[in-house]
Amino acid sequence: MKTTIKGVQEKIKKGETSHEEVFSSYLARIKERNETTNAFLTVFEKSKTVNEEKKELPLYGAFFAVKDNILIKEERCTAGSKILEHYVAPYTATVVEKILENGGVVVGKTNLDEFAMGSSTENSTFGPSRNPIDTERVPGGSSGGSAAAIADGMCNAGLGSDTGGSIRQPAAFCGVVGFKPTYGTVSRSGVMSMSSSFDQVGPFTNCVEDAETVFNVISGKDERDSVTSDLIKKETQENFRVGILKEYFVDGINQEVKRVLQEAIKKIEKAGLDVVEVSLPHTEYALPAYEIIMASEVSTNMARYDGIRYGLEFDRPAAKTMQDAYLKNRGEGFGKEVKRRIILGTYALSAGYYDAYYIRAQKIRTLIAEDFKSVFKKVDVVFAPTTPTLPFKIGEKVEDPLSMHLSDIFTVTANLAGLPAISLPCGKSGDFSVGAQVLADRFYEDKLFLAAKKFEKIWKS
Ligand code: GLN
Repeated sequence: MKTTIKGVQEKIKKGETSHEEVFSSYLARIKERNETTNAFLTVFEKSKTVNEEKKELPLYGAFFAVKDNILIKEERCTAGSKILEHYVAPYTATVVEKILENGGVVVGKTNLDEFAMGSSTENSTFGPSRNPIDTERVPGGSSGGSAAAIADGMCNAGLGSDTGGSIRQPAAFCGVVGFKPTYGTVSRSGVMSMSSSFDQVGPFTNCVEDAETVFNVISGKDERDSVTSDLIKKETQENFRVGILKEYFVDGINQEVKRVLQEAIKKIEKAGLDVVEVSLPHTEYALPAYEIIMASEVSTNMARYDGIRYGLEFDRPAAKTMQDAYLKNRGEGFGKEVKRRIILGTYALSAGYYDAYYIRAQKIRTLIAEDFKSVFKKVDVVFAPTTPTLPFKIGEKVEDPLSMHLSDIFTVTANLAGLPAISLPCGKSGDFSVGAQVLADRFYEDKLFLAAKKFEKIWKS
């Protein structure tokens, strides 16, 4: 049952169904399908059903799949890692509190690449999730569990975290909407850090309007996350200049993806929107800069899993020295990709290499943000592919980290510049949808949603 939040609300209002009935039908769907897709790691069969007074709340009728790196008090939170297999959260993330206060229900916690590091959900210690459209293929990642859950009709909303594309890329692979907000609009309190200057929580939904509804609930200043603010700009203007990012349509993009995107652009033009080509000259340096900064921040954020504060439970007396205990805990608790990134980040931050790698990457980050600044002087929103390929086969890239990291080539720029970016289906190639990415300037989510809703209407008609 692929229904929007609004769709469920209306059905309940008309008396065609009840809140309990919708919840039971999602649970039944999870029972039927989760063994195949492995979308959920934990299911809350006894989620409190919402009482009648909540009917007028914005998220009444919204049933959420929450990525398992977002805390819910007294529930297990694994981050897809062996090191946290038995970890129970001591408090609830601000985003989840806001969802519950506004009438939403959490159906369960979903699978992810370990600590959100990956693009396919294959780096989870609990096995890969599968793409419900073709179960031989990946749902994308790292928030692949949430994307698969909503695409497979197990819920009608989801939460993911996006550090370099982990909401938008799986949304594109599973044919749903995925939105990464402006950095600093959504609280990270209770969200496990991967790369703190990029991480941002956002929704998966079945339409753009639902993404906007969820964003309006979860965003805003939170005293538990000092970078949050209330700077969202109000926008009502309906006429947009759309920029097509020139550098994103050249090399390395799959022909089918390109064909569908170009048809989508033609439809926008035909609908009378003003479309121009724009350029981001530093695009080729975006992925290398992301890799360096991300790994550097990962290496420091992972330091807390030392077996003392957080970590694997093991026979401590058996470790003779503190070094032994660290090695055993981190050696056995972390998977390959996490270790690879800790090593890379530690190297980039070490004396002698810091200037050559880390500082340089930060300078590139500034140049990329400036590229966007000048583009947004000419256009209101920009249009780009979300991914360079259609969903790949399980096992196809997992032993080749470099080609896996190339999946993020079109998404990392929004994180480097802190911009809001949404992925929405814009057409089909066989059974798969192709994701189009729409980006706007920082804090211009209102403009982004207006544009994305307009595009959605054009592409659906
Ligand atoms: N796939 C990207 C990476 O592996 C992004 C991950 C994310 O956004 N959490 O780094």
